[in-house]
Amino acid sequence: MTAGDRFAGQSIETARRILTNLLGTQRIDSAELDARLLTGAVLGLDLTGLISAAKRILTSNEAAQLARFAQRRIDGEPVARILGAKEFWGLPLQLSADTLVPRPDTETIVEATLELLDTNGRRDRPLIIADLGTGSGAILLALLSELPNATGIATDINLDALRTARSNAAQLGLIERAHFIVCDYASALTGDFDLIVSNPPYIPSADIAGLDIEVRKHDPLRALDGGKDGLDAYRVIAPEAARLLVPGGLLVVEVGHDQSDDVTRLVAISGLALPAPPKADLEGIRRAVSGQKKP
Ligand code: GLN
Repeated sequence: MTAGDRFAGQSIETARRILTNLLGTQRIDSAELDARLLTGAVLGLDLTGLISAAKRILTSNEAAQLARFAQRRIDGEPVARILGAKEFWGLPLQLSADTLVPRPDTETIVEATLELLDTNGRRDRPLIIADLGTGSGAILLALLSELPNATGIATDINLDALRTARSNAAQLGLIERAHFIVCDYASALTGDFDLIVSNPPYIPSADIAGLDIEVRKHDPLRALDGGKDGLDAYRVIAPEAARLLVPGGLLVVEVGHDQSDDVTRLVAISGLALPAPPKADLEGIRRAVSGQKKP
């Protein structure tokens, strides 16, 4: 049996079930969701569409395409990479080889930021935001979607990542409030910013080899490798924030699972105050570390 035959002549409903079982036997935890997303992508259907078309028989092209997607998933490629897209904060984002797949953990950075902003005033004030190492633009675009009068600058060392971020901004109707600059973190920026956010690379170099294949082989190394102790980026970003923020301005960064104390210390050393304890993600990991420029 060739791989394509597995789905040939099957209904959408059966193909989806076959794929769920297949991924399940490969110890893929999210087998059901992955099967739905991959089947939906092949057919151009969302969940409702898949259900209403459940009895339709796949064409041979669709069956072959689904088999190719199935094999890529089995070989360790994340669904988001296969689709070239991922939803973040309810926003559909395109990905490229040069952008990290946005993680649900990173939504904690958006939440922590909005909570801190809410304690300082209204969401409709004209905030100026910088997102350092923006990748797909996830954090900045989520914030712009919540802050109607905010404007943001996204930086990235990688021009292709920045192209992806810009195209996402355009797709989401946020392009008029988003600007893009190729540089390392904030090196090309001058003040004044009300808010600086970042999800920088923070995995210690020696830990990269032990990451899941989904991450190790499919996320860009440049977006993961945080140097010997994983903290290189924060040693740059914390002093940059102290330089660029207005008095009372906020810094919010994502950190690795055991880094909140170390990063809090780096933020304090750079002269920023600590406006709130680190905010935990859904798994209870302290993910979002914040700092505030003193008046
Ligand atoms: N959260 C990512 C992971 O552990 C790492 C992203 C990063 O280094 N900023 O898979």
